[in-house]
Amino acid sequence: MQDNKYAKLMEEVKKEEVVEARPLNFLEEIIENDLSSGRHTSVLTRFPPEPNGYLHIGHAKSICLNFGLAKQYGGKTNLRFDDTNPVKEDTEYVDSIKNDIQWLGFQWANEFYASDYFEQLYEWAVQMIKNGLAYVDDQTQEEIRAGRGTVQTPGTNSPYRDRSVEENLDLFERMKNGEFPDGSRVLRAKIDMAHPNMMFRDPLMYRIIHADHHRTGSKWCIYPMYDYAHGQCDSIENITHSICTLEFDVHRPLYDWFIEKLNIFPSHQYEFARLNLTYTVMSKRKLLELVRNNFVSGWDDPRMPTICGLRRRGYTPESIRAFAEKVGVAKRDNMIDLSLLEWCLRDDLNKRSNRYMAVLNPVKLVIDNWPADVESEICTAPKNQENPDAGTREIAFTKELYIEREDFMEEPPKKFFRLRPGGEVRLKYSYIVKCESVVKDENGEITEIHCTYDPTTKPGNGTWRSVKGTIHWVSAQHAKKVEARIYDRLFTEADMGGIPEGKDYKAYLNPESLVVKEALVEPALLEDNSGIAVQFERNGYYIKDADSTPEKLVFNKATGLKSSF
Ligand code: ATP
Ligand code: MG
Repeated sequence: MQDNKYAKLMEEVKKEEVVEARPLNFLEEIIENDLSSGRHTSVLTRFPPEPNGYLHIGHAKSICLNFGLAKQYGGKTNLRFDDTNPVKEDTEYVDSIKNDIQWLGFQWANEFYASDYFEQLYEWAVQMIKNGLAYVDDQTQEEIRAGRGTVQTPGTNSPYRDRSVEENLDLFERMKNGEFPDGSRVLRAKIDMAHPNMMFRDPLMYRIIHADHHRTGSKWCIYPMYDYAHGQCDSIENITHSICTLEFDVHRPLYDWFIEKLNIFPSHQYEFARLNLTYTVMSKRKLLELVRNNFVSGWDDPRMPTICGLRRRGYTPESIRAFAEKVGVAKRDNMIDLSLLEWCLRDDLNKRSNRYMAVLNPVKLVIDNWPADVESEICTAPKNQENPDAGTREIAFTKELYIEREDFMEEPPKKFFRLRPGGEVRLKYSYIVKCESVVKDENGEITEIHCTYDPTTKPGNGTWRSVKGTIHWVSAQHAKKVEARIYDRLFTEADMGGIPEGKDYKAYLNPESLVVKEALVEPALLEDNSGIAVQFERNGYYIKDADSTPEKLVFNKATGLKSSF
């Protein structure tokens, strides 16, 4: 038996090695080329979240990629908060982001903030003005937009475009000193208003925002735009591979342009397809809206695709990392099935989680021939059949039990192998029982199932005989009540990105996404301190929730045992 287990394990190890030997993805190819050509001698990546919300599974994909690639090639990863918009950003988000990254199992080499570089970015902007590459524009936002032209038609030059270097330097300094109100002036790069790439039509570099910044306070009232800040921040840190999502590919030439004009460390940007999941919205704006309008209980509601929500749902870091690996890196946008994420969780928990019996929809089962002088008898069961090291648990078997109502049918169809009148079934880890009669209430609902047990069939010390069905149970006298929160996907529509214009995505909220039930559970569950989700046998994986009190434990359903799709 042990030998068999070992052989099986080795087989799995071998299988995993085969998975490891997959072909290189395009980012790995780029990195290997850069290392072998000597373009770079080490790999430095970064993860650049904006601290304006909680991280979600899409960010987890990006984290696994950035940290994973660096680790794979002996390099390092910086955590850089992209905090260039003081209005939306908050320290609360900074703390949650750091916590989530570490929980996923990654550690950054340095913690930086784009705001650390405000002084340097300002100096570089001054240098660009001096080189005739930037100017202060007094046009309104509307005028600037209209002046950019369209993809088909060239833009028109701003009337302020040809200001002298001296005037630009003076105005830019006064912008910095707070002399002008929000929106009255901007700094723009002076490139080409007829450029075929709209990004090059004198892009904005700085805008005026009089707002307190979560780190720099009131020191600055001009803030750099994404395109002016991101590449330079990468360059300051000597980032070798700046990996971002596909929608930034049109920004790449501009990223390179600033770096070239400033003649600074040549970081390079590479794009991969962002993660889209069925039945899921992923934009922080929408997630924030769900929280603010109480459609969910918070950022960490177990139905949320946030990392804190997934954690509360029972997801493990291992399962999320495995998911990121399975999704791989694509160069074209695609949609990943939510069931793949669930599969990864099941695959991990199946190996590691302790098993307990729990009945969610109970009906009483009475063993009529149970000896009157035996109050209870102990059954021994493995904590996890997949892992002999997990040890065993003891379960009291008594005359009165509860089983799931669905495990009994008076008039069952063919292939129903559970309990039926006159039929036999094994009570898991215990005896075979036979149904003799049922008691019903005035509405015809079954209140008790009466059985006899076969005393020779106890596993371990009886004579083995098999029956087709095995069902789970709890002892009526010993079972404990817990609250089970049964979650389903938050939305009813698979392609949430494809919702037609004018139709609100909230119309697709799943009204059945949370069902609360009372469950009767095996007492050993209350002593479980494995720290991960447990399996309710034949039902699914559940994790103890922080809402639990000593009087009432609360369990969240992480996922069922099989795909529900
Ligand atoms: P959202 O659009 O959800 O608000 P964001 O891109 O604005 O996200 P950031 O904080 O700027 O959020 O993202 C940090 C990093 O995570 C970026 O490099 C971004 O490309 C990456 N990222 C965000 N969403 C996804 C996703 N769905 N799949 C892969 N990477 C993502
Ligand atoms: Mg962003």
